[in-house]
Amino acid sequence: MGDDCVLCTAERVTPWHFEDEQCWVADCLVCGTPMVVWRTHGLPEAELEGSLLDRLAGIAAARYGDGGFWIDPVRRRIPDHWHAHARPAGGFFDVDREQPRWFQQAGEGSE
Ligand SMILES: [Zn+2]
Ligand SMILES: [Zn+2]
Repeated sequence: MGDDCVLCTAERVTPWHFEDEQCWVADCLVCGTPMVVWRTHGLPEAELEGSLLDRLAGIAAARYGDGGFWIDPVRRRIPDHWHAHARPAGGFFDVDREQPRWFQQAGEGSE
């Protein structure tokens, strides 16, 4: 765990949707989609990872509807602290968020 890891410090700069002793779910500061974060700095075992993703899926279904989202497990900015995004179907950023120009030009997701 390091002071420079934004997922460890877990500052509440965006709306939080859920939290328990294992994880928390909040809107991602970068892309505005719900993001689940393991409270431990590192990578969980597959079984735990599945249950964490279940929590995220439940919140994403309430927001985007069943089948209206996809789970993005790629950790682009912080590869060593487990987290995952739920993104709207066919999109990368939240539908209510204006997409930055660099993203439209790049044409693919790269936070
Ligand atoms: Zn961390
Ligand atoms: Zn994000």
